[in-house]
Amino acid sequence: MVVKVRYAPSPTGSPHVGNLRTAIYDWLLAKREGGSFLVRLEDTDRSPERYAPESIADIEESMRYLGILPDAWWVTGGSDAPYVQSQRLPKYHLVIDRLLDSGHAYKCFCTKERLEKMRQEQQERGVPSGYDRRCRNLPPSDMERYTAEGLPFVVRLKMPLEGTCHLNDPIRGDITNEYRLQDDQVLLKSDGFPTYFLAATVDDHLMGVTHVLRGEEWLGSAPKMIHLYEVLGWEVPVIAHLPVILGSDRKKLSKRHGATNFRWFIEQGYLPEALVNFLVLLGWSTGEENREILSVNEIIDRFSLDGITEHPAIFDYEKLKWMNGYYIRQSEPGRIIGLCIPYLIRAGLLSNPPTTEEIGYARRIIPLEQERMKTLSEVVDLVGFFFEELNFPQGYDEKAVSKWLTVSHIQALLEQEIVAFDALPVWNSASLEQATRAVTETLGVKFAEVVHPTRVATTGRTVGPGLFETLEALGKDRTLDRLRTVSKRIEQSSTAVSL
Ligand code: GLU
Repeated sequence: MVVKVRYAPSPTGSPHVGNLRTAIYDWLLAKREGGSFLVRLEDTDRSPERYAPESIADIEESMRYLGILPDAWWVTGGSDAPYVQSQRLPKYHLVIDRLLDSGHAYKCFCTKERLEKMRQEQQERGVPSGYDRRCRNLPPSDMERYTAEGLPFVVRLKMPLEGTCHLNDPIRGDITNEYRLQDDQVLLKSDGFPTYFLAATVDDHLMGVTHVLRGEEWLGSAPKMIHLYEVLGWEVPVIAHLPVILGSDRKKLSKRHGATNFRWFIEQGYLPEALVNFLVLLGWSTGEENREILSVNEIIDRFSLDGITEHPAIFDYEKLKWMNGYYIRQSEPGRIIGLCIPYLIRAGLLSNPPTTEEIGYARRIIPLEQERMKTLSEVVDLVGFFFEELNFPQGYDEKAVSKWLTVSHIQALLEQEIVAFDALPVWNSASLEQATRAVTETLGVKFAEVVHPTRVATTGRTVGPGLFETLEALGKDRTLDRLRTVSKRIEQSSTAVSL
Protein backbone atom coordinates (compact mmCIF):
# COMPACT_ATOMS: atom_id res chain seq x y z
CA MET A 1 0.00 0.00 0.00
CA VAL A 2 1.32 3.45 -0.88
CA VAL A 3 0.82 5.63 2.14
CA LYS A 4 -0.86 8.97 1.53
CA VAL A 5 -1.27 11.29 4.46
CA ARG A 6 -3.07 14.60 4.65
CA TYR A 7 -3.09 17.62 6.91
CA ALA A 8 -6.36 19.50 6.72
CA PRO A 9 -6.16 22.85 8.49
CA SER A 10 -9.07 25.26 8.68
CA PRO A 11 -8.24 28.95 8.21
CA THR A 12 -9.55 30.04 11.59
CA GLY A 13 -6.41 31.80 12.83
CA SER A 14 -2.68 31.34 13.12
CA PRO A 15 -2.05 27.58 13.48
CA HIS A 16 -2.29 26.31 17.03
CA VAL A 17 0.33 23.98 18.53
CA GLY A 18 -2.11 21.10 18.11
CA ASN A 19 -2.35 21.78 14.37
CA LEU A 20 1.41 22.09 14.07
CA ARG A 21 1.95 18.81 15.87
CA THR A 22 -0.58 17.05 13.59
CA ALA A 23 1.17 18.47 10.53
CA ILE A 24 4.55 17.28 11.79
CA TYR A 25 3.23 13.77 12.51
CA ASP A 26 1.59 13.65 9.05
CA TRP A 27 4.82 14.68 7.36
CA LEU A 28 6.85 12.21 9.43
CA LEU A 29 4.53 9.31 8.68
CA ALA A 30 4.72 10.02 4.95
CA LYS A 31 8.51 10.33 5.12
CA ARG A 32 8.95 7.23 7.21
CA GLU A 33 6.71 5.11 4.96
CA GLY A 34 8.03 6.52 1.70
CA GLY A 35 4.55 7.86 1.01
CA SER A 36 3.21 11.26 0.06
CA PHE A 37 1.87 14.15 2.07
CA LEU A 38 -0.80 16.56 0.94
CA VAL A 39 -2.25 19.62 2.61
CA ARG A 40 -5.83 20.62 2.04
CA LEU A 41 -7.49 23.82 3.17
CA GLU A 42 -10.79 23.16 4.92
CA ASP A 43 -12.54 26.48 4.49
CA THR A 44 -16.18 25.50 4.38
CA ASP A 45 -17.12 27.21 7.62
CA ARG A 46 -17.77 30.73 6.34
CA SER A 47 -19.13 32.23 9.56
CA PRO A 48 -17.37 35.53 10.29
CA GLU A 49 -16.31 34.37 13.76
CA ARG A 50 -14.48 31.35 12.32
CA TYR A 51 -13.35 32.26 8.81
CA ALA A 52 -10.06 34.17 8.89
CA PRO A 53 -8.64 34.22 5.35
CA GLU A 54 -5.53 36.09 6.48
CA SER A 55 -4.48 32.98 8.39
CA ILE A 56 -3.96 31.07 5.11
CA ALA A 57 -0.61 32.82 4.72
CA ASP A 58 0.28 31.80 8.27
CA ILE A 59 -0.58 28.17 7.56
CA GLU A 60 1.69 28.25 4.53
CA GLU A 61 4.49 30.01 6.40
CA SER A 62 4.32 27.58 9.30
CA MET A 63 4.90 24.61 6.97
CA ARG A 64 7.82 26.33 5.31
CA TYR A 65 9.26 27.45 8.63
CA LEU A 66 9.11 23.99 10.19
CA GLY A 67 10.58 22.51 7.02
CA ILE A 68 7.69 20.10 6.52
CA LEU A 69 6.84 20.84 2.92
CA PRO A 70 3.99 18.84 1.39
CA ASP A 71 4.16 17.04 -1.94
CA ALA A 72 0.90 18.64 -2.98
CA TRP A 73 -1.14 21.59 -1.70
CA TRP A 74 -2.86 24.70 -2.96
CA VAL A 75 0.45 26.52 -3.19
CA THR A 76 2.02 24.22 -5.77
CA GLY A 77 -0.99 22.23 -6.98
CA GLY A 78 -0.93 18.50 -7.52
CA SER A 79 -2.86 15.67 -9.12
CA ASP A 80 -5.84 16.02 -6.76
CA ALA A 81 -6.21 19.79 -7.11
CA PRO A 82 -7.92 21.96 -6.13
CA TYR A 83 -6.75 21.62 -2.53
CA VAL A 84 -9.15 24.24 -1.24
CA GLN A 85 -12.55 22.94 -0.24
CA SER A 86 -14.49 26.06 -1.22
CA GLN A 87 -13.32 25.37 -4.78
CA ARG A 88 -14.65 21.82 -4.72
CA LEU A 89 -18.35 22.44 -4.02
CA PRO A 90 -19.70 20.55 -7.09
CA LYS A 91 -17.94 17.40 -5.89
CA TYR A 92 -19.76 17.55 -2.54
CA HIS A 93 -23.09 18.30 -4.20
CA LEU A 94 -22.77 15.18 -6.37
CA VAL A 95 -22.31 13.07 -3.25
CA ILE A 96 -25.18 14.81 -1.48
CA ASP A 97 -27.47 14.03 -4.43
CA ARG A 98 -26.35 10.42 -4.30
CA LEU A 99 -27.12 10.20 -0.60
CA LEU A 100 -30.54 11.84 -1.01
CA ASP A 101 -31.44 9.58 -3.93
CA SER A 102 -30.44 6.45 -2.06
CA GLY A 103 -32.36 7.54 1.04
CA HIS A 104 -29.25 7.75 3.23
CA ALA A 105 -29.71 11.44 3.80
CA TYR A 106 -32.68 13.75 4.05
CA LYS A 107 -33.54 17.42 3.82
CA CYS A 108 -34.30 19.10 7.10
CA PHE A 109 -36.37 22.29 7.05
CA CYS A 110 -36.37 22.92 10.79
CA THR A 111 -35.79 26.55 11.60
CA LYS A 112 -33.03 27.84 13.86
CA GLU A 113 -35.69 28.88 16.38
CA ARG A 114 -37.19 25.40 16.51
CA LEU A 115 -33.78 23.79 16.94
CA GLU A 116 -32.90 26.24 19.68
CA LYS A 117 -36.14 25.55 21.53
CA MET A 118 -35.62 21.82 21.17
CA ARG A 119 -32.09 22.13 22.60
CA GLN A 120 -33.35 24.13 25.57
CA GLU A 121 -36.03 21.58 26.34
CA GLN A 122 -33.51 18.76 26.13
CA GLN A 123 -31.29 20.62 28.53
CA GLU A 124 -34.12 21.21 30.96
CA ARG A 125 -35.05 17.55 30.85
CA GLY A 126 -31.42 16.58 31.33
CA VAL A 127 -31.34 14.40 28.20
CA PRO A 128 -28.47 14.45 25.70
CA SER A 129 -28.96 17.13 23.09
CA GLY A 130 -29.40 16.12 19.49
CA TYR A 131 -31.75 16.51 16.58
CA ASP A 132 -35.16 14.90 17.24
CA ARG A 133 -35.33 13.66 13.63
CA ARG A 134 -38.62 15.38 12.88
CA CYS A 135 -37.83 15.89 9.19
CA ARG A 136 -36.51 12.36 8.80
CA ASN A 137 -40.09 11.18 8.53
CA LEU A 138 -41.60 14.17 6.77
CA PRO A 139 -44.44 13.08 4.44
CA PRO A 140 -43.29 13.37 0.79
CA SER A 141 -46.06 15.87 0.06
CA ASP A 142 -44.72 18.27 2.74
CA MET A 143 -41.22 17.77 1.46
CA GLU A 144 -42.27 18.71 -2.07
CA ARG A 145 -44.23 21.70 -0.91
CA TYR A 146 -41.37 23.10 1.22
CA THR A 147 -38.95 22.57 -1.65
CA ALA A 148 -41.31 24.27 -4.11
CA GLU A 149 -41.73 27.21 -1.69
CA GLY A 150 -37.94 27.54 -1.63
CA LEU A 151 -37.68 27.09 2.15
CA PRO A 152 -34.08 26.94 3.34
CA PHE A 153 -32.93 23.48 4.35
CA VAL A 154 -29.92 21.50 5.47
CA VAL A 155 -29.14 17.92 4.49
CA ARG A 156 -28.73 15.43 7.34
CA LEU A 157 -27.23 11.98 7.40
CA LYS A 158 -29.76 9.28 8.26
CA MET A 159 -27.95 7.36 10.97
CA PRO A 160 -28.94 3.70 11.43
CA LEU A 161 -31.18 3.06 14.43
CA GLU A 162 -29.46 -0.20 15.22
CA GLY A 163 -26.12 -1.89 14.79
CA THR A 164 -22.64 -1.00 15.94
CA CYS A 165 -19.74 0.87 14.46
CA HIS A 166 -16.18 -0.42 14.80
CA LEU A 167 -13.11 1.69 14.55
CA ASN A 168 -9.66 0.24 14.84
CA ASP A 169 -7.64 3.24 15.93
CA PRO A 170 -3.90 2.47 15.89
CA ILE A 171 -3.43 4.68 18.96
CA ARG A 172 -6.52 3.76 20.97
CA GLY A 173 -7.30 0.24 19.81
CA ASP A 174 -10.78 -1.06 19.00
CA ILE A 175 -13.58 1.38 19.62
CA THR A 176 -17.18 0.30 19.38
CA ASN A 177 -20.15 2.64 19.26
CA GLU A 178 -23.84 2.06 18.97
CA TYR A 179 -25.23 3.75 15.90
CA ARG A 180 -28.57 4.57 17.51
CA LEU A 181 -26.85 6.97 19.91
CA GLN A 182 -25.48 9.08 17.07
CA ASP A 183 -27.06 12.30 15.94
CA ASP A 184 -28.32 12.77 12.38
CA GLN A 185 -25.36 14.90 11.42
CA VAL A 186 -25.76 17.91 9.14
CA LEU A 187 -23.78 17.25 5.95
CA LEU A 188 -24.79 20.27 3.89
CA LYS A 189 -25.59 23.65 5.41
CA SER A 190 -28.29 26.01 4.18
CA ASP A 191 -25.62 28.21 2.58
CA GLY A 192 -24.77 25.35 0.21
CA PHE A 193 -21.44 24.64 1.90
CA PRO A 194 -20.76 21.15 3.23
CA THR A 195 -19.83 20.55 6.84
CA TYR A 196 -16.49 19.06 7.83
CA PHE A 197 -18.02 15.56 8.08
CA LEU A 198 -19.01 15.40 4.45
CA ALA A 199 -16.23 17.45 2.90
CA ALA A 200 -13.38 15.68 4.71
CA THR A 201 -14.83 12.24 3.95
CA VAL A 202 -15.36 13.01 0.27
CA ASP A 203 -11.93 14.54 -0.12
CA ASP A 204 -10.10 11.84 1.79
CA HIS A 205 -11.73 9.34 -0.55
CA LEU A 206 -11.21 11.25 -3.79
CA MET A 207 -7.63 12.11 -2.89
CA GLY A 208 -6.80 8.50 -2.01
CA VAL A 209 -5.82 9.29 1.58
CA THR A 210 -4.74 6.14 3.43
CA HIS A 211 -4.05 7.61 6.90
CA VAL A 212 -5.97 10.27 8.79
CA LEU A 213 -4.32 11.65 11.93
CA ARG A 214 -6.52 14.08 13.78
CA GLY A 215 -7.18 15.55 17.20
CA GLU A 216 -8.94 13.63 19.94
CA GLU A 217 -11.83 16.09 19.75
CA TRP A 218 -12.98 14.33 16.56
CA LEU A 219 -13.24 10.91 18.18
CA GLY A 220 -16.98 11.35 18.77
CA SER A 221 -17.60 12.04 15.10
CA ALA A 222 -15.92 8.84 13.89
CA PRO A 223 -19.11 6.70 13.78
CA LYS A 224 -20.87 9.24 11.57
CA MET A 225 -17.99 9.35 9.16
CA ILE A 226 -17.54 5.59 9.13
CA HIS A 227 -21.24 5.23 8.36
CA LEU A 228 -20.82 7.66 5.48
CA TYR A 229 -17.99 5.55 4.06
CA GLU A 230 -20.15 2.46 4.42
CA VAL A 231 -23.19 3.82 2.61
CA LEU A 232 -21.05 5.27 -0.14
CA GLY A 233 -19.23 1.95 -0.53
CA TRP A 234 -15.83 3.51 0.07
CA GLU A 235 -12.89 2.02 1.92
CA VAL A 236 -12.35 3.54 5.36
CA PRO A 237 -8.79 4.90 5.78
CA VAL A 238 -6.74 4.30 8.92
CA ILE A 239 -8.04 6.88 11.41
CA ALA A 240 -5.86 7.73 14.42
CA HIS A 241 -6.85 10.18 17.15
CA LEU A 242 -3.93 12.06 18.64
CA PRO A 243 -3.76 12.82 22.37
CA VAL A 244 -5.02 16.13 23.65
CA ILE A 245 -2.45 18.77 24.67
CA LEU A 246 -2.84 20.14 28.21
CA GLY A 247 -1.29 23.03 30.11
CA SER A 248 0.77 22.50 33.26
CA ASP A 249 -2.45 22.52 35.34
CA ARG A 250 -3.76 19.60 33.26
CA LYS A 251 -6.49 21.72 31.72
CA LYS A 252 -6.80 21.91 27.94
CA LEU A 253 -4.03 24.14 26.60
CA SER A 254 -5.41 27.58 25.89
CA LYS A 255 -4.46 31.24 25.90
CA ARG A 256 -4.62 31.19 29.69
CA HIS A 257 -1.44 29.14 29.75
CA GLY A 258 0.44 31.40 27.39
CA ALA A 259 0.34 32.01 23.69
CA THR A 260 -0.17 28.87 21.67
CA ASN A 261 -0.07 29.88 18.04
CA PHE A 262 2.55 29.83 15.35
CA ARG A 263 2.81 33.65 15.10
CA TRP A 264 3.82 33.87 18.76
CA PHE A 265 6.50 31.21 18.45
CA ILE A 266 7.99 33.07 15.52
CA GLU A 267 7.88 36.41 17.30
CA GLN A 268 9.56 34.96 20.37
CA GLY A 269 12.26 33.43 18.21
CA TYR A 270 11.94 29.68 18.45
CA LEU A 271 14.09 27.81 15.95
CA PRO A 272 12.35 25.36 13.64
CA GLU A 273 14.39 22.37 14.81
CA ALA A 274 13.54 23.16 18.44
CA LEU A 275 9.83 23.41 17.64
CA VAL A 276 9.82 20.18 15.65
CA ASN A 277 11.78 18.36 18.35
CA PHE A 278 9.56 19.70 21.13
CA LEU A 279 6.21 19.27 19.40
CA VAL A 280 6.95 15.76 18.20
CA LEU A 281 7.48 14.70 21.81
CA LEU A 282 4.01 15.91 22.78
CA GLY A 283 2.50 12.45 22.64
CA TRP A 284 5.21 10.47 20.88
CA SER A 285 8.39 8.95 22.24
CA THR A 286 11.21 6.87 20.87
CA GLY A 287 10.97 4.34 23.68
CA GLU A 288 14.59 5.09 24.57
CA GLU A 289 14.92 6.46 28.08
CA ASN A 290 15.91 10.11 28.51
CA ARG A 291 16.10 10.62 24.78
CA GLU A 292 14.86 14.15 24.30
CA ILE A 293 17.15 15.88 21.85
CA LEU A 294 16.56 14.41 18.42
CA SER A 295 17.48 15.70 15.00
CA VAL A 296 14.85 15.57 12.28
CA ASN A 297 16.60 12.62 10.64
CA GLU A 298 16.74 10.73 13.91
CA ILE A 299 13.03 11.36 14.35
CA ILE A 300 12.20 10.17 10.83
CA ASP A 301 14.18 6.98 11.43
CA ARG A 302 12.28 6.23 14.63
CA PHE A 303 8.80 7.53 13.91
CA SER A 304 5.79 5.23 13.93
CA LEU A 305 2.18 5.43 15.06
CA ASP A 306 2.99 2.77 17.67
CA GLY A 307 5.10 5.31 19.53
CA ILE A 308 2.11 7.65 20.02
CA THR A 309 0.28 7.45 23.31
CA GLU A 310 -3.38 8.11 23.96
CA HIS A 311 -2.54 9.86 27.23
CA PRO A 312 -2.70 13.64 27.33
CA ALA A 313 0.52 15.48 26.61
CA ILE A 314 1.60 18.35 28.86
CA PHE A 315 2.90 21.48 27.18
CA ASP A 316 5.85 22.67 29.24
CA TYR A 317 7.00 26.16 28.20
CA GLU A 318 10.18 25.89 30.26
CA LYS A 319 11.19 22.71 28.50
CA LEU A 320 10.58 24.31 25.12
CA LYS A 321 12.77 27.24 26.13
CA TRP A 322 15.49 24.95 27.35
CA MET A 323 15.40 23.01 24.10
CA ASN A 324 15.47 26.19 22.04
CA GLY A 325 18.47 27.42 24.04
CA TYR A 326 20.20 24.15 23.25
CA TYR A 327 19.62 24.55 19.51
CA ILE A 328 20.70 28.21 19.62
CA ARG A 329 23.98 27.21 21.26
CA GLN A 330 24.50 24.48 18.66
CA SER A 331 24.01 26.89 15.76
CA GLU A 332 26.70 28.57 13.71
CA PRO A 333 27.14 32.12 15.06
CA GLY A 334 26.50 33.48 11.55
CA ARG A 335 23.01 32.00 11.54
CA ILE A 336 22.16 33.43 14.96
CA ILE A 337 23.53 36.85 14.01
CA GLY A 338 21.33 36.89 10.91
CA LEU A 339 18.27 35.84 12.87
CA CYS A 340 18.86 38.32 15.71
CA ILE A 341 19.45 41.44 13.61
CA PRO A 342 15.73 41.93 12.78
CA TYR A 343 14.93 41.88 16.53
CA LEU A 344 17.52 44.62 17.13
CA ILE A 345 16.08 46.68 14.30
CA ARG A 346 12.55 46.34 15.65
CA ALA A 347 13.77 47.36 19.11
CA GLY A 348 15.35 50.46 17.58
CA LEU A 349 18.87 49.40 18.57
CA LEU A 350 19.93 49.27 14.92
CA SER A 351 18.81 51.57 12.11
CA ASN A 352 16.53 50.24 9.43
CA PRO A 353 18.34 49.25 7.30
CA PRO A 354 21.41 48.97 9.49
CA THR A 355 24.63 50.67 8.42
CA THR A 356 27.70 48.58 7.59
CA GLU A 357 29.27 49.78 10.80
CA GLU A 358 26.24 48.72 12.83
CA ILE A 359 26.24 45.30 11.22
CA GLY A 360 29.92 44.92 12.07
CA TYR A 361 29.16 45.84 15.69
CA ALA A 362 26.21 43.42 15.84
CA ARG A 363 28.40 40.66 14.42
CA ARG A 364 30.88 41.18 17.25
CA ILE A 365 28.43 41.32 20.12
CA ILE A 366 25.68 38.81 19.29
CA PRO A 367 27.99 35.75 19.50
CA LEU A 368 29.01 36.88 23.00
CA GLU A 369 25.42 36.30 24.18
CA GLN A 370 24.61 33.25 22.06
CA GLU A 371 25.37 30.92 24.98
CA ARG A 372 22.81 32.59 27.20
CA MET A 373 19.98 33.12 24.75
CA LYS A 374 16.94 30.89 25.15
CA THR A 375 14.84 32.62 22.54
CA LEU A 376 16.02 34.96 19.81
CA SER A 377 13.88 37.81 21.14
CA GLU A 378 15.92 37.78 24.36
CA VAL A 379 18.80 39.22 22.37
CA VAL A 380 17.31 42.69 22.84
CA ASP A 381 17.66 42.60 26.63
CA LEU A 382 20.91 40.70 26.55
CA VAL A 383 22.80 43.06 24.26
CA GLY A 384 20.91 46.27 25.05
CA PHE A 385 23.77 47.61 27.17
CA PHE A 386 26.10 47.49 24.19
CA PHE A 387 23.93 50.03 22.38
CA GLU A 388 22.22 52.15 24.97
CA GLU A 389 23.71 55.47 25.94
CA LEU A 390 24.51 54.54 29.51
CA ASN A 391 24.73 57.69 31.53
CA PHE A 392 25.60 56.77 35.09
CA PRO A 393 23.55 56.26 37.22
CA GLN A 394 20.83 56.11 34.57
CA GLY A 395 20.56 52.66 33.03
CA TYR A 396 22.57 51.08 35.86
CA ASP A 397 21.34 48.28 38.04
CA GLU A 398 20.95 49.78 41.51
CA LYS A 399 21.97 46.69 43.43
CA ALA A 400 25.04 46.23 41.26
CA VAL A 401 26.01 49.84 41.85
CA SER A 402 25.60 49.73 45.61
CA LYS A 403 27.60 46.54 45.83
CA TRP A 404 30.48 47.20 43.45
CA LEU A 405 30.80 50.91 42.85
CA THR A 406 31.06 51.70 46.55
CA VAL A 407 34.25 49.71 47.26
CA SER A 408 36.96 51.83 48.86
CA HIS A 409 39.37 51.53 45.94
CA ILE A 410 36.79 52.51 43.31
CA GLN A 411 38.15 55.92 42.45
CA ALA A 412 41.75 54.77 42.19
CA LEU A 413 40.65 51.81 40.14
CA LEU A 414 38.67 53.84 37.62
CA GLU A 415 41.38 56.46 37.25
CA GLN A 416 44.11 53.89 36.71
CA GLU A 417 42.03 51.91 34.24
CA ILE A 418 41.24 55.02 32.24
CA VAL A 419 44.93 55.80 31.91
CA ALA A 420 45.96 52.20 31.22
CA PHE A 421 43.19 51.45 28.71
CA ASP A 422 43.70 54.73 26.91
CA ALA A 423 47.35 53.92 26.39
CA LEU A 424 46.74 50.46 24.90
CA PRO A 425 48.35 50.15 21.46
CA VAL A 426 45.89 47.40 20.47
CA TRP A 427 42.35 47.04 21.76
CA ASN A 428 41.60 43.39 22.31
CA SER A 429 40.62 41.10 25.14
CA ALA A 430 44.20 39.92 25.77
CA SER A 431 45.66 43.41 26.07
CA LEU A 432 42.69 44.53 28.20
CA GLU A 433 43.18 41.64 30.56
CA GLN A 434 46.90 42.34 30.87
CA ALA A 435 46.27 45.98 31.68
CA THR A 436 43.60 45.07 34.21
CA ARG A 437 45.91 42.61 35.95
CA ALA A 438 48.60 45.27 36.19
CA VAL A 439 46.12 47.71 37.78
CA THR A 440 45.05 44.95 40.21
CA GLU A 441 48.64 44.51 41.32
CA THR A 442 49.23 48.21 41.81
CA LEU A 443 46.10 48.45 43.93
CA GLY A 444 46.98 45.33 45.92
CA VAL A 445 43.40 43.95 45.80
CA LYS A 446 41.92 40.69 44.53
CA PHE A 447 41.29 40.29 40.80
CA ALA A 448 37.54 39.84 41.44
CA GLU A 449 37.51 43.19 43.26
CA VAL A 450 38.58 44.78 40.00
CA VAL A 451 36.64 42.69 37.52
CA HIS A 452 33.22 43.20 39.12
CA PRO A 453 33.40 46.98 39.56
CA THR A 454 34.78 47.31 36.03
CA ARG A 455 31.94 45.26 34.62
CA VAL A 456 29.33 47.31 36.48
CA ALA A 457 30.98 50.60 35.46
CA THR A 458 31.06 49.66 31.78
CA THR A 459 27.85 47.65 31.37
CA GLY A 460 25.58 48.71 34.23
CA ARG A 461 25.11 45.11 35.39
CA THR A 462 26.82 42.24 37.12
CA VAL A 463 26.15 39.50 34.60
CA GLY A 464 27.19 39.16 31.01
CA PRO A 465 29.71 37.53 28.77
CA GLY A 466 33.43 37.52 29.66
CA LEU A 467 34.48 41.03 30.75
CA PHE A 468 37.41 41.41 28.39
CA GLU A 469 35.50 40.09 25.35
CA THR A 470 32.75 42.51 26.30
CA LEU A 471 35.14 45.47 26.50
CA GLU A 472 36.79 44.49 23.23
CA ALA A 473 33.40 44.42 21.49
CA LEU A 474 32.22 47.59 23.23
CA GLY A 475 35.21 49.38 21.76
CA LYS A 476 37.63 51.91 23.14
CA ASP A 477 35.47 55.03 22.89
CA ARG A 478 32.41 53.61 24.57
CA THR A 479 34.45 51.90 27.30
CA LEU A 480 36.45 55.01 28.17
CA ASP A 481 33.39 57.26 28.00
CA ARG A 482 31.55 55.06 30.48
CA LEU A 483 34.52 54.76 32.84
CA ARG A 484 35.05 58.52 32.75
CA THR A 485 31.41 59.33 33.40
CA VAL A 486 31.21 56.95 36.34
CA SER A 487 34.47 58.24 37.76
CA LYS A 488 33.40 61.86 37.46
CA ARG A 489 29.97 61.30 39.04
CA ILE A 490 31.42 59.29 41.92
CA GLU A 491 33.96 61.98 42.57
CA GLN A 492 31.27 64.66 42.52
CA SER A 493 29.04 62.77 44.90
CA SER A 494 31.82 61.98 47.36
CA THR A 495 32.88 65.63 47.37
CA ALA A 496 29.26 66.60 47.99
CA VAL A 497 29.05 64.18 50.91
CA SER A 498 32.26 65.35 52.49
CA LEU A 499 31.26 69.01 52.19
N1 GLU B 1 -10.27 20.96 9.44
C1 GLU B 1 -10.22 20.15 10.61
C2 GLU B 1 -9.53 20.93 11.72
O1 GLU B 1 -8.85 21.89 11.42
C3 GLU B 1 -9.43 18.89 10.32
C4 GLU B 1 -9.71 17.75 11.17
C5 GLU B 1 -9.10 16.53 10.51
O2 GLU B 1 -7.88 16.47 10.48
O3 GLU B 1 -9.84 15.71 9.98
O4 GLU B 1 -9.68 20.62 12.87
